[in-house]
Amino acid sequence: MAKGMKAVIVGSGSAVPDPDRGNPSQAVVIDDEILLFDCGERTTINLIKSGINPNDVGHLFLTHLHWDHMAEFGYLVMSTWNCGRRQTLQVYGPDGTEAMVANSIYGTHKADFDFVRGYIRRLPSHITNKPSNDPNVKALDIEVGFELETDTFKVTAGEVVHHQCVGMPSVAYRVESEYGVVAISGDTSPCQGMIDLAKGADVLIHDTAFLDEIIEERQMWSHSGPSGAARVAKEAGVKKLVLTHLGPYTSHPKAIEMGEMYYGPARGPEIWDEIVAKAEAVYDGPVVLAHDALVIDV
Ligand SMILES: [Zn+2]
Ligand SMILES: [Zn+2]
Repeated sequence: MAKGMKAVIVGSGSAVPDPDRGNPSQAVVIDDEILLFDCGERTTINLIKSGINPNDVGHLFLTHLHWDHMAEFGYLVMSTWNCGRRQTLQVYGPDGTEAMVANSIYGTHKADFDFVRGYIRRLPSHITNKPSNDPNVKALDIEVGFELETDTFKVTAGEVVHHQCVGMPSVAYRVESEYGVVAISGDTSPCQGMIDLAKGADVLIHDTAFLDEIIEERQMWSHSGPSGAARVAKEAGVKKLVLTHLGPYTSHPKAIEMGEMYYGPARGPEIWDEIVAKAEAVYDGPVVLAHDALVIDV
């Protein structure tokens, strides 16, 4: 990609399998540096659709370990290693991340891990662009307040409200560079921690997992609706709000059937305008409805 900073919605969907949307995942690209945030189902393919070679992802920051945010971790690691990735993939995430990474590579994928290693060794010596001898993944458990600063970017992990009370540690992230600031909520209710983390950001990518009325009816207080996401955007004074983690309201009939407990029956396409209108009623800035492989200039 060209010089500058871009926010990429890799997967814009929810936890319900949806032919129209991949599970949650975002990327922030700063010059040649590619930072991936969450790794839900379809991340690898949607990175390619966004113009990003998955082999070039250097850092993966997980907001939490709900399956929809990390289901494709093993696929990303094995497919990029098999396709010749040599650079280290550094993975950061809340408590449990180091164990997840080790279990994935040396547990779930052990047979293939052994296979690829043996396969690499048997490649003829004149092949010089073969993968490294190891998948080169390092993992680190982090907490709220974690900061990673390089010459190119600074990433800060902030506090959110998402099922911590039942044992799901979660964080949000703020990414700063010389070009601007992107804040990524992961899953959260509208909360002060997110407002503080997103202060003055150019782009806020925020959980809009459910309609306002579903959150009320079902007491889904660990997620946000469009009004709540917009309240965070307004109070943080961000320049643009992107609504993501969207349900399968207008998707394939079987996806709607699967998600009916949370999303209700099939809706007409006007539901998307209704979601945006709810946010616009609260927040004066531009509201963008996410879709897969959406690239936003920062
Ligand atoms: Zn979650
Ligand atoms: Zn989620």
